[in-house]
Amino acid sequence: MRLQTKAIHTGVDKDTSYNSVMTPIYQTSTFRFEDIGRTKGYDYTRTANPTRKALEENITALEGGAGAIAVATGMSAIATTLHLFKSGDHIVCTHDCYGGTDRILRTYEELFNLQVSYVNLQDPGNLRSALRPNTRGVWIETPSNPLLNILDINALADIAREHKALAIVDNTFLTPVNQRPFELGADVIVHSTTKYLNGHSDVVGGAVVARESGLADRLQYLCNALGQGASPFDCWLVLRGIKTLIPRMQMHELNARRVAEFLQGHPRVRHVYYPGFATHPHHAVACKQQSGFGGMVSFELDAGLEGVNRVLRGVKIFALAESLGGVESLIDHPQSMTHASMDPALRAAAGITESTIRLSVGLEDIEDLIDDLRTALTI
Ligand SMILES: *Cc1c(COP(=O)(O)O)cnc(C)c1O
Repeated sequence: MRLQTKAIHTGVDKDTSYNSVMTPIYQTSTFRFEDIGRTKGYDYTRTANPTRKALEENITALEGGAGAIAVATGMSAIATTLHLFKSGDHIVCTHDCYGGTDRILRTYEELFNLQVSYVNLQDPGNLRSALRPNTRGVWIETPSNPLLNILDINALADIAREHKALAIVDNTFLTPVNQRPFELGADVIVHSTTKYLNGHSDVVGGAVVARESGLADRLQYLCNALGQGASPFDCWLVLRGIKTLIPRMQMHELNARRVAEFLQGHPRVRHVYYPGFATHPHHAVACKQQSGFGGMVSFELDAGLEGVNRVLRGVKIFALAESLGGVESLIDHPQSMTHASMDPALRAAAGITESTIRLSVGLEDIEDLIDDLRTALTI
């Protein structure tokens, strides 16, 4: 089966009681035993639940892995993945990772003596220099948030494998529709399903997919031990969202490109961050490893904070909100919103300024989105 068919069918159709075409929501905490020591495959929802299992099978099929866990949030996915390591292990993490990833890594450094190096992985050679004898993991997130820098997954995963370290890819921004980390050598893929996989801004959720069954079993163990599993209802919603993942990603792609091109030509815009432009510094790597450029566009307004605030207040269709990946368009000011908790010096080093604006381009009519931006930019 090809991706779109898997998105609609894998894991979904398995109700033998009444032949429901869609997965039932097994909204139950516990399951009656057939007899002493004999169940129908489920005993307690923290451990496993048929609706969650359906979503896990679906996401496993989309990423092409051996198994997955569906968990409560993207951060649950990241935290559970970090439990694959032990005290004293060293992890190399991309220096411009998601803020929550940075926060949990710093917490685990304190609590569990995890060792973490934050490294600019845009040059894979920097990974080689950062390796230590105890390096066990490489944390890759591409494209980065909000400036959409691209990391070469294949080159980084090769170096990780030589060193027997796990290559972990946060694939939230591009989804398996546009980026296939296992085919590029990754061992583990994490997702915030809150974003494109669910796609409708009505769930927080996460997933971890493993390429090999040994790791998948370990993740299942950790998910149960840590109590991270997503609720049956949330799993049902994400499974519902995924059915339209491919057509949504295609339309995000078209709309985002149009928005990027509009901004590129606008006199009040100093710079547009969009990996689909041939002028983007990592365009070649993006073309090599991605089959699309996604729905995110960031830009530098040619103005200070007052001008930025006028744009943020001036838009009517773009909602001023954090998060991304839903059908509705959102506008974000990283410095005061999504990246506010970041150390100011690190934020500046990453290239995020008071004039940086991030857009999650939704699926509204593109002419309305461009009109909205045009109006806000002239206020
Ligand atoms: C949102 C996000 C997360 C965290 O996911 P939550 O569902 O908010 O916990 C992790 N990684 C990336 C790239 C994200 O965008």
